[in-house]
Amino acid sequence: MTLQASLQKLRAPWVERIARELASGEGVRAGFSEQLVRFYELLEQTVMTGDTAWLDPILYDWGRSPTETNLEEAGYYVSFVVNRMIALTIEVARENLKQKEALVLLTAVIPILTHSLSVVVRYEMETRVAHISNELGKTQEKLQRLDRNKSNFISVAAHELKTPLTLIEGYASMMVDVVQASSQPLMDEYLNGVETGIHRLRHIIDDMIDVSLIDNNLLTLNFQPLWISHLFTLLENEMRKTVTERRQTLDIHSFEGSDLMIYADSERLYQALHNVVSNAIKYTPDKGTITINGRLLPGFVEIVITDTGIGISPEHQATIFEKFEQLGRADLHSSGKTKFKGGGPGLGLPITRGIIEAHGGTIWVESDGYDEVKLNGSTFHILLPSRTEPSDPNMLKFFGEFDADKKDIETEASAKENTPTDKPAA
Ligand code: ADP
Repeated sequence: MTLQASLQKLRAPWVERIARELASGEGVRAGFSEQLVRFYELLEQTVMTGDTAWLDPILYDWGRSPTETNLEEAGYYVSFVVNRMIALTIEVARENLKQKEALVLLTAVIPILTHSLSVVVRYEMETRVAHISNELGKTQEKLQRLDRNKSNFISVAAHELKTPLTLIEGYASMMVDVVQASSQPLMDEYLNGVETGIHRLRHIIDDMIDVSLIDNNLLTLNFQPLWISHLFTLLENEMRKTVTERRQTLDIHSFEGSDLMIYADSERLYQALHNVVSNAIKYTPDKGTITINGRLLPGFVEIVITDTGIGISPEHQATIFEKFEQLGRADLHSSGKTKFKGGGPGLGLPITRGIIEAHGGTIWVESDGYDEVKLNGSTFHILLPSRTEPSDPNMLKFFGEFDADKKDIETEASAKENTPTDKPAA
């Protein structure tokens, strides 16, 4: 019997056997049988012509056929069917043909079926990848919407909270006056407690507003000439009481760059440094040391704040600059802003990063990991552009150094911004 005759003889039992094994239910089986007949005809064409392209259209249809449910369940159904088809073809050939004829047929058919399997796997994989990236796109959209909602919520909540807080503040300060006049010592203590609470709440609300400003790119900076060493002096004065209470050492070095006059927003920069230094105090046990140092780099001033505290694990280092990263750790929340390990709502570092980045700088942390016994410590690096010119040309005029027209100033300012010098411009 010729190969063509063997193929014809095998068609009916092949379709019947595969449909019976692989399709459950009468309705499904009828449709599936039609598909199998079409496939078998194309298989015959392929055997006769030696061109596998005959099978491509049906394999393409099959590979693209998985339904949403199939894709959700993540099974490779079509590949499974074709795979099983290979095994069943061998069985059907053995049962219906003489041994030699079966061998000839299988030698011709099996390579084609194997090729079909690889094509179907590729199409099915492509369908699945398209499905996954579609799902990813949808999830990303949802996440962005969620993030926007969260940011809107923070902004609305912060503003709503501010009004009653101002009222409470007003009444509390009136009560202080009344109590002081009537000299009742216990009331004095209670009112101190109320004032501390108000102060803390105001701080949290201000942080919430700052986060929403940063999130919405609304943080505006007021660039003014400043010396970083002045900010350090302010910090030292503000932190002195806490550092003494905690018997810690705050070691502030002067370095090349700390006395350089740069343009920055002094209030915001102070806020950023304050956050990092008060964290260093918070996460360092009593008697520890916090060191502030730095160096001048080409175009940048680097400020380095090192502590001898509990350190930060590598996973945590990657997330501490994300907002609300600390929210899950309710065990660490505390009302004491400088108490050892007294965590807050986790807004300090995201705000710090927002401020530094708004200046065109960057912040990162290095630590050998979290260990409350070994005390690996942490080192925060802040890289700040050593901007020796105001970004706003009008300010140049204000400082009386330049009288050129706006265009000239802009050209000159941008040229200088690319090649920063150590010398103050004003
Ligand atoms: P929080 O209000 O919790 O202090 P931050 O944004 O200021 O929020 O800091 C986020 C988290 O980063 C902290 O809760 C703490 O776990 C970790 N962290 C920050 N600074 C230090 C530090 N110097 N040493 C150890 N951990 C730190």
